[in-house]
Amino acid sequence: MCRHLAYLGAPMPLAELLLAPAYGLLTQSWAPRRQRNGTVNADGFGVGWYAPGDPVPARYRRAIPIWADRSFADVARVTSSGAVLAAVRSATSGMTQEESAAAPYAHGPWLFSHNGRVEGWPDALEGLAASLPPARLLALEAQVDSALLWALVLERLAAGDSAGDALAHVVGTVAAVTGGRLNFLLTDGTGIAATAAGDTLFWRTGPGNVVVASEPFDDGPGWHEVPDGCLLTATAGHIDIRPIPNLTKEQVAP
Ligand code: GLN
Repeated sequence: MCRHLAYLGAPMPLAELLLAPAYGLLTQSWAPRRQRNGTVNADGFGVGWYAPGDPVPARYRRAIPIWADRSFADVARVTSSGAVLAAVRSATSGMTQEESAAAPYAHGPWLFSHNGRVEGWPDALEGLAASLPPARLLALEAQVDSALLWALVLERLAAGDSAGDALAHVVGTVAAVTGGRLNFLLTDGTGIAATAAGDTLFWRTGPGNVVVASEPFDDGPGWHEVPDGCLLTATAGHIDIRPIPNLTKEQVAP
């Protein structure tokens, strides 16, 4: 399954955050250390980041492995941001390989990523899909389980849920109808919400910053693992972790 990461803090070059670390997303694309499912993450990648004074993030996504994109390495060296969400993808079998399926997905100020898979896709989510307004379904970003999960999250955000409540709600409703792995990552550039539901999730804070990632990108101190079945919410320097309501251990399949 995929690996993803979100960062909030002082602006730093994308290359320093994603490419330079010994076990960063670049290395995780071919040699992840903690991934529970899948081996390489070579089916595309994406980076979303916020620029000062603009609430809508920029995105750079490709359908090729991150290691094969020398143009990204160049851009990442000279692009800095204080709010980033990035992912490397291992496509679930049967799902499209196109760039449109590479996280992060975006809408307005939001960036979203899903690490995992929905069992029984697409039939298992027919009922939940039918609960969405047709316009939301027609606007799906890609033919992939993650895009429908994102549409469900967006619907909760539009209804007024906080980022954390929206993720927890969707994990709960999906887990109630089918199995799967539902590690989500969501940011609006000022806060991060993430779920650990079937795969690994870690966090680390530093002075005025926070990283939330599928796995530690170095062997330094300060990394903490989020227990399975939990929701993490964070702002730069502050972390809150709580169990996802109404989610039993059996409902997430590590
Ligand atoms: N199911 C999603 C996809 O196919 C996410 C895959 C993953 O986590 N590896 O893109």
